[in-house]
Amino acid sequence: MIREADRLRTFAPLPGRSIKHRASLYADDLVVFVTPAAEDLTCLQQILLLFAGASGLIANIDKCDRCWATLPARAEKNVVAMIDASMTVIIGDGASAKLWTDNWSNVGSLCSFAPQLFADISPRGKKMSVNDGLFQNRWAREIHGADTVQVLLQYLRVWAILRAVVLDPHVPDRLTWKWSPDGKYSVSSTYRAFFEGSTALLGAKELGKTKAPPKVKFFMWLVLHRRIWTANRRLRHGLQDSDDCNLCSQASETCDHLFVGCVTTRQLWYRLLLPLGLQDLTPLTEESLGIWWLRQRERLSADSRPPFDTLLLLITWTIWKERNNRVFNRITSNLAAIAQEVIREGQCWCEAGYSSLAHLISLWSQNQVVL
Ligand SMILES: [Zn+2]
Repeated sequence: MIREADRLRTFAPLPGRSIKHRASLYADDLVVFVTPAAEDLTCLQQILLLFAGASGLIANIDKCDRCWATLPARAEKNVVAMIDASMTVIIGDGASAKLWTDNWSNVGSLCSFAPQLFADISPRGKKMSVNDGLFQNRWAREIHGADTVQVLLQYLRVWAILRAVVLDPHVPDRLTWKWSPDGKYSVSSTYRAFFEGSTALLGAKELGKTKAPPKVKFFMWLVLHRRIWTANRRLRHGLQDSDDCNLCSQASETCDHLFVGCVTTRQLWYRLLLPLGLQDLTPLTEESLGIWWLRQRERLSADSRPPFDTLLLLITWTIWKERNNRVFNRITSNLAAIAQEVIREGQCWCEAGYSSLAHLISLWSQNQVVL
């Protein structure tokens, strides 16, 4: 019957070619391969029922092992904790809610509210439903363990909670999911819940869309997190004695100073922005790089923003390389040489396919006098 159903394509086809036979018999056990779709499983169930009606051999579906039941995969601790914190049971008839482990009372699950008492409960008692447990106070008969003071105290507290429970036999228990407005579980609400309370990095979205070599984008990502090894950061970690800026020697070398506030940097920005007619965007004071970047790009038209974003990464990257050249190679370039290096690096980026810089480079080339 299974082969006939397969021939008539009642079952969805199995993936791959390695499974030749859908059904194999081993003594009185049957192994069947079907896709885990509701239609296929219902169809298989019907076939087994028909077979049972004709032959008298009834398949015990409850005895079936799920294909993943014996795999070593277990729910991770933080996933279990997430479900405990997010899933609440609204008690109706108390038939399906587990008395000890489900989160149905206003103190959370009883196993975490009274852990010592829970440890004394028999394995059968731990699986009891709320309805079973409350019936003639059966839950109390499942306590098998030492009556320590803690256990007695927790017993009294649990007793007070259970005494106040009123079951409604006409309404089934209902599960509610804390993270969606209608109380129904959804993957998207769960995913969002994992980020509850986290803050977004300023500029992260814009950086993701910026066209630049990946290593430079990664460098910028570190800059926005203030995780590059500036003199200030090295001083804080006890790696050096001074945090003087390597470009101007006038202030502490932080990310914001190095790329926005430093006098050398501001002169460089002015020199490079002037030929583009964007000199108004030159940083005037020291402030957060992310805030400055987002504010300046707001002043530009939508078409000008992508080249400006790439330009920002190009200049920031060149400043960082100049700073490192001064620290590690003891070589100092003047402003004109740094500006030339920006152009040379920009040309390399253009050749590598970052064509949004091509227009800027042609403008710079036409204004060699300014440089
Ligand atoms: Zn400086």
